[in-house]
Amino acid sequence: MKKIIIAIDGPAGSGKSTTAKLVAQQLGFLYIDTGAMYRAVTYMAIQNNLLDDTYSLTDDDKKAKITLSYENDCTKVSLNNEDVTEAIRNPEINANVSFVSAIGPIREEMIRQQREMGSRNGVVMEGRDIGTVVFPDADLKVFMVAALQTRAQRRFEELTLHGKKAALLDVMENLETRDSIDSSREVNPLMKAADAIEIDTTHVTIDNQVSLIVNLAKKKMELPDA
Ligand code: C5P
Repeated sequence: MKKIIIAIDGPAGSGKSTTAKLVAQQLGFLYIDTGAMYRAVTYMAIQNNLLDDTYSLTDDDKKAKITLSYENDCTKVSLNNEDVTEAIRNPEINANVSFVSAIGPIREEMIRQQREMGSRNGVVMEGRDIGTVVFPDADLKVFMVAALQTRAQRRFEELTLHGKKAALLDVMENLETRDSIDSSREVNPLMKAADAIEIDTTHVTIDNQVSLIVNLAKKKMELPDA
């Protein structure tokens, strides 16, 4: 069967990661969480006191070498050979990642790496600009949305499950702020591609949204190459 590219975009907490992971698992595809890459660059900016000079992160000597691997249901993230899997989920990263992600040259470098990763196998890539910019010719594009309250509740439960303390209201505020910056930035804003299928996950079960996408993907995979 044909190996295809599936692009899943949408705001924070819309269910992209959970869905993308399961779709990739069922199809035997590579799963790529591009948000983890922007988080890793943000971590690097904080560690090097470069939040006020993020442009320098694209200098050759400071370029982030990010490696993603998928182990035990979790994306393991390594930044210049340091394991930052846990560190990139901290509140400080949540508070700064949308500012760092809005910098054009940083996005260019991330997109270059993402295209390279996606060119080898069947892939499910999730983010904000996958269907619009990274792979505008993706075989299947999905745009996931959900009510803010639902998204915040999900993120809150996820954090609690991982033993991290957070207040629901703070989580909601962070999602709202990030969505607003991500959607209004000049470079590659969060946007639904014209040919994307929209899934509102507020009232849909994970199983249902996964099987919907897997079935659509299977149809595409049976199509002969043009
Ligand atoms: O997906 P996640 O919530 O981990 O993404 C963290 C942040 O990374 C987003 O709020 C956004 O600012 C940025 N991002 C992006 N483009 C992507 C993926 C994530 O700008 N393709």
